[in-house]
Amino acid sequence: MATNRTFTMIKPDATGAGKTGAITKMIEEAGFKIIAMKKVWLTAELAGKFYAIHKERPFYKDLCSYMSSGPIVPMILEKENAVEDFRKLIGATDPAKAAPGTIRALFAKSIDANAIHGSDSDANADIEGNFFFSQFERFEK
Ligand code: UDP
Ligand code: MG
Repeated sequence: MATNRTFTMIKPDATGAGKTGAITKMIEEAGFKIIAMKKVWLTAELAGKFYAIHKERPFYKDLCSYMSSGPIVPMILEKENAVEDFRKLIGATDPAKAAPGTIRALFAKSIDANAIHGSDSDANADIEGNFFFSQFERFEK
């Protein structure tokens, strides 16, 4: 399994605010190579599948409706130490606690509408990338 890849998605609050380009620019300027990228609109059911790990948490239902409220931009990214470095680039879940200059500090509206996702482990990066990108699509190996 790759240890130099992570998975991200720009969330509906940020795509809706026209920040896809600004966020993608920050990602590339931080040294991440975009391996795969597309714009899609999830149903609440599919959002629920993606976030199944959180299904016992109180915010799960709201999270599923928020994540299906507008388009998202999923991407597979590559960089040395990708998972950890990307979590640093996006900042804490709650933008009020995110370090200055991080993507969430700059673009997130709230703890739920927080602009961007970043995988928390190599194993989850692999699972989450495979959720959105089929092995039958041609993208950089
Ligand atoms: N979330 C929320 N309320 C909370 C915690 C999380 O709405 O109290 C949402 C938020 O969009 C977050 C996602 O659920 O990004 C997944 O939560 P997690 O704890 O995995 O945070 P992350 O890994 O995204 O920083
Ligand atoms: Mg998480």
